[in-house]
Amino acid sequence: MSTIEVKKIVKAIQTSDGAGVKLKRSMGIPELDFIDPFLMFDEFGSENKDDYIAGFPAHPHRGIETVTYMLAGRFKHEDSTGSKGEMGPGSVQWMAAAGGIIHSEMPIMKEGKLHGFQLWVNMPAKLKMSKPSYQNIEPQEIPEFKDQDKKVKIIAGNFKNKIGPAKGYVNPIYLDIELEKVKNFIYNIPSSHNSFIYLVSGEIKVGSKTHEKLENSTLISLTNGSSLKISSVKKSQFLIIAGKPLGEPIARGGPFVMNTKQEILKAVQDYHSGNFVQK
Ligand code: MN
Repeated sequence: MSTIEVKKIVKAIQTSDGAGVKLKRSMGIPELDFIDPFLMFDEFGSENKDDYIAGFPAHPHRGIETVTYMLAGRFKHEDSTGSKGEMGPGSVQWMAAAGGIIHSEMPIMKEGKLHGFQLWVNMPAKLKMSKPSYQNIEPQEIPEFKDQDKKVKIIAGNFKNKIGPAKGYVNPIYLDIELEKVKNFIYNIPSSHNSFIYLVSGEIKVGSKTHEKLENSTLISLTNGSSLKISSVKKSQFLIIAGKPLGEPIARGGPFVMNTKQEILKAVQDYHSGNFVQK
């Protein structure tokens, strides 16, 4: 059993996306480009409506999965496949944009707190031009394990014989953990997977080696191994996200992620010529 340790600590940077939604980005930035198969990680959230009310109007994606997990607030989403719906607290949308999707994600709250996460998962070359698909997961479909020390929501992967509903090509693990003060959380991750922790709030220690202090809105990239140990200094909330790397070339062009620059140019061309969405 090899111990998983801290590889890199990335403090999220303030940025904005969509029509000016303020967010904290900790992957897909110069300090951390990607953790194969993951390409981007954002935490969005504010108590101030001016930070989110403009939302994410219609925009395209190709070649990736976008995974949205809401903690607070409500969004409505609509896209070029004809799918539409709402996302509220505790819900997950796991969307494979694949060959092409144009969608909008707009807040349907006029005030109050918005809080959530968006993860981009790369798709294998052979599936990048396939048909878009969805997993819209309601809060009640997400199994929860609870004891005196912790509360664990299993979005993808397994924990204590409970199986998360979200499935993907990279055999994803996505857990949301609330750990009481001065407790341990032990978890086994396949050593074939790359993994990271996103610390939402509190303070934790990871692995067996000393590292700098880990506090709010920090991404902790992890070494490959099998046994992950997390200890809470304060009551903490964090996500554990892991997946099997694809090991394929990555070409980025904003909302498109393909394998070559040429495929990015094709995506831009398709979008501007109205041939982006294949029926
Ligand atoms: Mn989007």
